Amino acid sequence: MSFKVAIIGRPNVGKSTLFNRLAGRKLALVDDTPGVTRDRRIHSAKLYDLNFDVIDTAGFEDAAAATLQGRMRAQTEMAIEEADLVFFLIDSKAGLLPDDRTFAEIVRRSGKPVVLVANKAEARGAQSGMLESWELGLGEPVPVSAEHGQGLPDLRDAIIAAIGEERAFGDEAEEEAVAESEVLIGEDITDPDADEAAAAYDESKPMRIAVVGRPNAGKSTLINALIGQERLLTGPEAGITRDSISVDWEWGGRKIKLFDTAGMRRKARVQEKLEKLSVADGLRAIRFAEVVIVVFDATIPFEKQDLQIADLIIREGRALVIAFNKWDMIDNPQEKLAELREMTDRLLPQVRGVQAVTISAETGRGLEKLMASVIKTHQVWNRRVSTGRLNRWLEGILTHHPPPAVAGRRLKVKYMTQAKTRPPGFVVSCSRPDAMPQSYVRYLVNNLREAFDMPGVPIRMALHASD
Ligand code: GDP
Ligand code: GDP
Repeated sequence: MSFKVAIIGRPNVGKSTLFNRLAGRKLALVDDTPGVTRDRRIHSAKLYDLNFDVIDTAGFEDAAAATLQGRMRAQTEMAIEEADLVFFLIDSKAGLLPDDRTFAEIVRRSGKPVVLVANKAEARGAQSGMLESWELGLGEPVPVSAEHGQGLPDLRDAIIAAIGEERAFGDEAEEEAVAESEVLIGEDITDPDADEAAAAYDESKPMRIAVVGRPNAGKSTLINALIGQERLLTGPEAGITRDSISVDWEWGGRKIKLFDTAGMRRKARVQEKLEKLSVADGLRAIRFAEVVIVVFDATIPFEKQDLQIADLIIREGRALVIAFNKWDMIDNPQEKLAELREMTDRLLPQVRGVQAVTISAETGRGLEKLMASVIKTHQVWNRRVSTGRLNRWLEGILTHHPPPAVAGRRLKVKYMTQAKTRPPGFVVSCSRPDAMPQSYVRYLVNNLREAFDMPGVPIRMALHASD
């Protein structure tokens, strides 16, 4: 079974054009005169080696004026509900309009994976619209021209990045697991990014944490140990509201919402479903959280599944803290720790400097340190660096280690700005972004991480062509 993509956006951004392009239909079907009612359409689509279904929501702009917004909203929500992935389209030529933000909000709240598609990228002045679209907090825009068929390879890569290879190429087992969990769990998860507008670090707002890891790593033991240690509970019986998706709790005066993996499992009841549930469970937990604690079994660390989970957290843009659990079973802690640190840096270079804490969920050792790391990482994830400081830093970098010359011409980097937080995202304005080697971008990211003390969180960096 293939996955479904909903194409979402305000009228006129190019949804039908993209739909037709992906569905291999004739472009003649597109009509920019309002008044042509089209039903919501689903069609099989192909993009290089990816096969999927596209859902188009275009054509509702002719509804009676009074109900226009309501109808479009309902249609949009239905399409998103049905989809595994959302393409959120903007018109980079026109820039952001208030309607874009309204639709973006609906998409964000759905918690579905999303690819921000900056359409009409071939048009004059499209760069500034693209830059502006970072503000939506939907991640890095993928520039395309639906009309001219440009940018499609990047769109393909973005799909895979958003939903993972297994789903993109149709791993049936995983799809089933996800479908199953919808039935069993069926709860709403609000995306923490919805609060992105309030970018400043706010300690009074509850911090959302999830604990993930492969089966038997010690997640349940850890959650129980954390909640058992210092709890301030809301709700009835012994306080824990287990039927909701999270547990309210406090640590050192800090309000926390902890994704209740254990509660979800109890609900599954049927024992055989547990294994399957854990896959979808993990993904939901990650989407829910701001900071994800990934529990490794220190006696058998860095299994393939551990790395897949870490990778998923990074791709979802969440802050990550590693807990090496069952430390009570380690005979040579010093050597082991050095080995684990080395492996962490080597195997997870995207989050260099990630906080890794040794704990024993069973004895409760290390939990203070773990929570301190969680709070520190959360702060970094929310950090904003002023444009002034960034550019002073950039100047120094450019003097000491300028970008290489490509085909005899030196690449110029002009300036940069932080476009978003949670996680930190930067836009670098430069000549010929296409020619910029990835190694230089990595160099910038690593240096930036050090200069502004941002260890262990995913950092996004986009290149923007300056004129
Ligand atoms: P929808 O209302 O979101 O479905 O938008 P349409 O697909 O009907 O497109 C609206 C208008 O934008 C039409 O005139 C299209 O020809 C035009 N359009 C769509 N894609 C592109 C593009 O990549 N570049 C440019 N310049 N125009 C486009
Ligand atoms: P989950 O599947 O990740 O939720 O793992 P559990 O919390 O159910 O733990 C799996 C097994 O590991 C259980 O037998 C736990 O008692 C054991 N375990 C969990 N934490 C520790 C620990 O810190 N030290 C030791 N020695 N065993 C642990």
